Amino acid sequence: MKKYSYLLPVFLLSFILNHQAQTINAENPFFNEWETPFQTPPFSEIKQEHFLAGYEAGIKQQNSEIDAIVTNSDKPTFENTIAALEKSGQLLTKVNKVFSSLNGTDTDDEMQKIAEQSTSMLSKHIDDFYLNEKLFERIKTLYDEKEKLNLTTEQSRVLENYYINFVRGGANLSNEGKEQLRKINDELSQLVLKFGDNVRKENNKFELIVENEKDLAGLPDASIQAAMEKAEAKGLNGKWLFTIDKPTLIPFLQFSENRSLREKMYKAYMNRGNNNDELDNKKIFSRITVIRVEKANLLGYKTYSDFVLQKKMAKTPDNVYSFLYDIWKPTLSKAKSEVEDMQKIIDAEGGKFSLEPWDWWYYAEKVKKEKYALDEEMLRPYFQLENVISGVFAVSTKLWGLQFVERGDIQVYNSEVKVFEVKEADGKHIGILYTDYFPRAGKTNGAWCGDFRGQSNMDGNYITPLVTNVGNFSKPTSDKPALISLDEVRTLFHEFGHALHVLFQNVTYPSAASVPSDFVELPSQIMENWAMQPEVLKMYAKHFETGEIIPQELIDKIDNSRFFNQGFETLEYIAASLLDMDWHVITDTDERDVLQFEKESIIKMGLISQVWPRYLTTNFIHIATWGYESGYYSYLWAAVLDADAFEAFMETSLFDKVTAESFRKNILSRGGSEDPMELYTKFRGRKPTVDALLKNREENRQSMLY
Ligand SMILES: [Zn+2]
Repeated sequence: MKKYSYLLPVFLLSFILNHQAQTINAENPFFNEWETPFQTPPFSEIKQEHFLAGYEAGIKQQNSEIDAIVTNSDKPTFENTIAALEKSGQLLTKVNKVFSSLNGTDTDDEMQKIAEQSTSMLSKHIDDFYLNEKLFERIKTLYDEKEKLNLTTEQSRVLENYYINFVRGGANLSNEGKEQLRKINDELSQLVLKFGDNVRKENNKFELIVENEKDLAGLPDASIQAAMEKAEAKGLNGKWLFTIDKPTLIPFLQFSENRSLREKMYKAYMNRGNNNDELDNKKIFSRITVIRVEKANLLGYKTYSDFVLQKKMAKTPDNVYSFLYDIWKPTLSKAKSEVEDMQKIIDAEGGKFSLEPWDWWYYAEKVKKEKYALDEEMLRPYFQLENVISGVFAVSTKLWGLQFVERGDIQVYNSEVKVFEVKEADGKHIGILYTDYFPRAGKTNGAWCGDFRGQSNMDGNYITPLVTNVGNFSKPTSDKPALISLDEVRTLFHEFGHALHVLFQNVTYPSAASVPSDFVELPSQIMENWAMQPEVLKMYAKHFETGEIIPQELIDKIDNSRFFNQGFETLEYIAASLLDMDWHVITDTDERDVLQFEKESIIKMGLISQVWPRYLTTNFIHIATWGYESGYYSYLWAAVLDADAFEAFMETSLFDKVTAESFRKNILSRGGSEDPMELYTKFRGRKPTVDALLKNREENRQSMLY
């Protein structure tokens, strides 16, 4: 469920980084070769004032590299044009990857100011790049004679992507059109940034202060303890402070017996960006959609969705709609029967009200106890964060022989971060993994995988990746270690799957790393399948105090309740996906009343009143900021792939080495170096079918559907 953007929106051009020595300013660490282990970023030396200078120098450097390419009097070749481009911009990439990452995990007002300025600089730089006529001419020449160039599959795809991206970047426009596109891109980049910043501030703003102990009824001890510590930290001794970050919000909704406080918390979460104040996102989002339409039209597409989907597996808005509606119908009836189950409990308890959206978690929890005798809080003691991490490592060791060594000698950007070296079975270095799992005021909500350096292998220079896994999981309290929820366990496995995709990547050119969002969720979602296998649970789910392995009885309960509440979860997900699509198939450029549009969209899809879409427009950060616009459907699309792919293990065995090796060789190591469908077919020996997913669905098994 909690699957977020694979990468924070970073610079569109992903270029190589190979530590070219720089002497522009020895005091700015970005200008020096990093003498750290594996050339990891020297965070202790990097100060905020280094970023903008780094961006400026990086842009200047890449511009002169591009000049050298376009003024080359030799006729264009793959080497002197495409490969040369792939080698350009190393300093810019180095600065941007570090900045984007830190701006996601540890931002503050100063970082936001830098983000505003650097975003503007990058937006112009990207436009300069795609609107460079001489450069496009060279690329077009190569593209037109592609068949004669004797390229490898990867080279051919890289060239094709350059050509398509240039066309999509406006290379074929008239001068007037190019000017217009620049304006659009600049405005869009600022709006998107502002939207994201508002949501982050909203996440931190709302506080529910409980003064009366009876308002804590039902809440787990750990939630109460954490709320007390939060209040104390603010000098509110004897009170309890609840915020709307997920590790606080979800247990509150699940367990608080105070219905009006649950409503307050849920509405505060859903109304982020919709409070008619300085953080309001309604006008911003409306404007974003208007200029997205303008951009699409300018580039020759009917809608922004058409523009986006051209580069995805799904290809067209119609394909996405029919895909979503296919699953919508059975999901809706499943959700309706879940409503009935919950209403029965409400009635039996003498509650004289109908189930509302903020009641789901609370009554779902009761249904779970009643039907499956499972109390989620019983599981937490077995999910100590460190044990879950050992679990995902152990799965990778069994599948691919990977080794993980914690490194204390590698610098971190925050004391909560841990660093692991990842090695092959024979000890060969693969890359570095940074894990950063707890909420902080400066951290964006959600969970994601990013990197400080991507993999590439040009001119025999193999660059190993530096990957990050970031989450907002339940924190340790003063008397207990971090005991995470079942959902957080899945998320951890999910993001780790993305990390493996980056770590295993073995491509030549940096830009070959780019993977469509409806394919990129395959490696992450497939990992979630291992997390809940009884055999795997026994490997890592050990009681934090006694070390006792999770009892079979609890494993059975997890297994039985696997499909519990899936009507609701899938429905709120598809509703958000349809809302996303509706916003991006608009064909006119009228400013819209965001709430009215949202209401009409919800009515049109036929959503039941007891469920709201997982995100409402004003805080739907995936589609405003994270690059998932007209792409939120991707998780479900990839679910078809991951169900079908995992079936290959079920047909052999959970840790079948041959299947694992084939998955690594054909998918995980290939990045975007070949068409995703081709890659998949090489792994599976055929195209994906929805059978695995449907088979699960017929048994009401919709766990794949997030
Ligand atoms: Zn993901």
